[in-house]
Amino acid sequence: MGFFDGLKRENKQSHAPEAGPSPLNQEPEVTQREEQPSIEPNIDEIEVTIRERESTPFEAVPVQPLKSYKDKAPVRHVIGHTKVIAIINQKGGVGKSTTAINLAAALGEMGKQVLLVDLDHQGNCSSGLGVEKSLIQRCIYDVLLNDVPIEDVIIPDIAEGVDIAPATINLAGAEVELVAEMARENRLKDAVGSMRGRYDFILIDCPPSLGLLTVNALVAADKLLIPIQCEFYALEGVTKLLESMKRVKSRLNPTLDIYGILLTMYDSRTTLSKQVVDEVREYFGRLVFSTPIPRTVKLSEAPSFGQPITQYDPKGRGSLAYIEIAKEVISRG
Ligand code: ADP
Ligand code: MG
Repeated sequence: MGFFDGLKRENKQSHAPEAGPSPLNQEPEVTQREEQPSIEPNIDEIEVTIRERESTPFEAVPVQPLKSYKDKAPVRHVIGHTKVIAIINQKGGVGKSTTAINLAAALGEMGKQVLLVDLDHQGNCSSGLGVEKSLIQRCIYDVLLNDVPIEDVIIPDIAEGVDIAPATINLAGAEVELVAEMARENRLKDAVGSMRGRYDFILIDCPPSLGLLTVNALVAADKLLIPIQCEFYALEGVTKLLESMKRVKSRLNPTLDIYGILLTMYDSRTTLSKQVVDEVREYFGRLVFSTPIPRTVKLSEAPSFGQPITQYDPKGRGSLAYIEIAKEVISRG
């Protein structure tokens, strides 16, 4: 008996609460098998079906091409300077993409023009806003490595007031390919710089690492928004992130600074969440946004419907929290 046999048996036991003295369970297996219709495939029938299918032309399913920047709806006037904010934390699963999607959408609904730059090859922002990845021909990878202008990859009006520069799996190679390039740290800065004045906010959703893509984000950004998950090792890795920020600040981007710290996945029922909030506030003071983002199932469900939380569950706690953060972002300027 192998290891997996044991596992299978255990699973069967634990998932079969009906197993017991019930008369139904005592029915001999053999009788049940005899009553089953034959499941032998009938090759003749299958052949006929295939022939019929071949002779019936498929109805052409219209494939809607993705809109391009040229199709963008007339833009409301952008007042003042464009603020470029990188949503950054080298830890995975802390709520970066969730924040990027939902903060962008909340700002868009408040009348702001927002460009969301997806800088993670998992493309969570792109899929979370309903972009059909198989239709993307060029993505942010081509902007960084193939000199494609960012306008050529932007999909406009993906949500109210929100455009997106999407990412695909191609971006996975960028870390390695960028190493050999000239001015490799400035690629994103140049691309994003060309869009200044056209948006109120450009939000960059960073990958969970401190590699060259993240360095590109640190060079391109005016400010950093750091999501911190309310969990035991909340501040782990933050020192390293701040060191990277200081290094980039001293050599490549002198005005770079922290914009805000956002507490995510806050659970008001646990003392741990409260302790984390206290600790983070003690460490970062007024940089911490006043509203923590609650842990809610709706926030984790929304991406699978390709919708921001403000559409998926507009009156829910998650939506209200991101709207509060958007208000704070607007008032911080
Ligand atoms: P990151 O981009 O930092 O890796 P994500 O935003 O993808 O993190 O979030 C990680 C997971 O946690 C995702 O499955 C997401 O749906 C879920 N999640 C994020 N924020 C919340 C929240 N406030 N409540 C519940 N689930 C959340
Ligand atoms: Mg992410």
